[in-house]
Amino acid sequence: MNQVRRLSKTIFIILLSAPLVQCQKTVNTEIFDRALDGGTILSADAQNSIIEDGLILIREGRIAYVGSKKMAPAYQATQTIDTHGKLICPGWINTHSHAPMTLFRGLADDLPLQQWLEEHIWPAEKAYINPENVKIGARLAILEMIAGGTTTFNDMYFFEDQVAQAAAELGMRAVIGEGILMFPTPSAQTPTEAMILTKHLAETWRGHALVRISVAPHSPYTLSSAQLKACDSLARELGLLLHIHVSETRQEVAQSVAQYGQTPVERLLSLGVLGPHVLAAHCVHLSENDMRIMANQGSAVAHCPESNLKLGSGIAAIPAMIAAGITVAAGTDGAASNNDLDLLEELHTGSKIQKGLHEDPAILSAQDWFRIGTIEGAKALGIEKETGSIEIGKLADLQIYDLHAPHATPMFSPMSHLLYSLQATDLEWVIIHGKPVWKQGKLLTGNQEEIIEEARQIGKQIQSERFVP
Ligand SMILES: [Zn+2]
Repeated sequence: MNQVRRLSKTIFIILLSAPLVQCQKTVNTEIFDRALDGGTILSADAQNSIIEDGLILIREGRIAYVGSKKMAPAYQATQTIDTHGKLICPGWINTHSHAPMTLFRGLADDLPLQQWLEEHIWPAEKAYINPENVKIGARLAILEMIAGGTTTFNDMYFFEDQVAQAAAELGMRAVIGEGILMFPTPSAQTPTEAMILTKHLAETWRGHALVRISVAPHSPYTLSSAQLKACDSLARELGLLLHIHVSETRQEVAQSVAQYGQTPVERLLSLGVLGPHVLAAHCVHLSENDMRIMANQGSAVAHCPESNLKLGSGIAAIPAMIAAGITVAAGTDGAASNNDLDLLEELHTGSKIQKGLHEDPAILSAQDWFRIGTIEGAKALGIEKETGSIEIGKLADLQIYDLHAPHATPMFSPMSHLLYSLQATDLEWVIIHGKPVWKQGKLLTGNQEEIIEEARQIGKQIQSERFVP
């Protein structure tokens, strides 16, 4: 009797629990903000994982799941983006820019560097660089960068609070540095004043989801040794990145050797201004000893091949730097010396000039350049725990390419396609901090036409002045 009772009790529990289990399954189905459903994911993780027929789930700006659809948990998403047949990768990280210089794009090209600077760029900056115009130029730059798949940029210019505001408003991730020089700039009369502005920026933007601040001494040749040390102390005190131009031209290195008996890198080392917090832009002319120093100090390089080529500065020894153990990232430099802010194009150009220069097609692979444009960029900025690859827990900073263009057909290797065939025009979606900011040729976070028109108006004013040859 007892057995019968026990059996009926068990049956009763089973019967009762059946709908309960189902009900619980519905309750357990997790809800996410966004799902990217299908497609090939190039993750840029430590294993360089490539996931076919993948799924990415995003919650509160972060990647909550990445993997194959087959292994995915039960989920519901507020928005599902169909990414079947598309390529998904981390957003590009532009590690060296002067965003507001979009206003001077093509202003005076094909001129010797000093003439270009002294007769055209500097007078134009003096006349036109004010907070209002900086914001207009920065908005144009951010629109252009988003349209090219960049999800983080590292900037150095004047009135950078305006650049920070433009980035925050348009949903772009940015590292912002007020340019510090020994002579008066449009925003500061002295380096001390520029450092005070930097401190204000750090206080104002502390804890912001998208904007970080750097200390941005322009270069070893535009600051005294004491001023360079003061910048470094500030960066260390506030725990900020130090962003500086280093050894961009042969002339700069020769001048440093003549004046100090040291290359710019040796001088920075002797001043104590190197370390893992330093990102040096250009480094076109490094000696072997310079490379050893940079590697030992854990300082990174922002490689800007198109600017270096256009200004006739030379070609940086990227394979040797990587072999020496230096973190190498990519940057566009300002639009006046490039003349665009398309990071994918930098990677195209950078990869091909090294192959040609070394007469070796195997030197640095598509995958190497993919990492230079993504996770190595994040490392160079000290934000690799937050972004730069598609991994669970990281911020969802992503770009999605369509693969239907003639130049994308057929496809054998997604990695080689991305680096050698695809164009910014193939970009379909850009997502920053989990939020779509670009969809099929349209900015979702601002008025694209208005941004372009504002900049065009400034261009007309500049055109009417003597700065255009
Ligand atoms: Zn620069």
